[in-house]
Amino acid sequence: MIVYCATGNPGKLREFQLAAPDFDVRKLPVAVSAPDETGDTFEANAAEKAIAYGRHIDGYLFADDSGLEVDALGGDPGVRSARFAGEHATDEQNNALLLERLRGAQDRTARFVCVIALVKDGRLVKTFRGAVEGRILDAPCGTGGFGYDPLFYYEPFACTFGEAPIERKVTVSHRAIALDAMFAYLRDLRGN
Ligand code: IMP
Repeated sequence: MIVYCATGNPGKLREFQLAAPDFDVRKLPVAVSAPDETGDTFEANAAEKAIAYGRHIDGYLFADDSGLEVDALGGDPGVRSARFAGEHATDEQNNALLLERLRGAQDRTARFVCVIALVKDGRLVKTFRGAVEGRILDAPCGTGGFGYDPLFYYEPFACTFGEAPIERKVTVSHRAIALDAMFAYLRDLRGN
């Protein structure tokens, strides 16, 4: 079964492609400009993206919205994770701002959240949510991954997502959990 995915983020794309070897996961074959992410929830943004991109595709397409929720910041940066430090902020700028906001905070608990919206012929079918719990360090560790990975300490691995090999991260990540739920749903539909 062919399933198109809508992302311009190479880190995410790699995770998508590793997630379901029994599906033909393809990048969008046409250039479509990304819709503004105007929603207050991951669900709203993922659905907005999937519907916008899905208009150009016959069959199944999914889009995700993801981010980091930090408890000491009341859930921020949340849906604004990519643009926490400004509209075109780099990962380094976002990470630096996060550390600044958390200076002195005792509570470092946080989670990555991912919501995937699945559309068929441009119509929303279902959304799937995944989350992974961790805590935010005082300084970045590791150079792998993307985004907030070097600050996100994952207890079961005893290292940050920036230090973990991507092959390990994709077995436990928020995206992996949401993707697994979506592919399980699609396997049910296709009968295996
Ligand atoms: P999106 O492209 O709107 O979903 O924004 C995702 C943003 O959330 C990224 O740019 C990162 O800042 C952050 N993020 C989401 N998932 C991850 C992850 O697996 N590792 C590190 N940062 C992530």
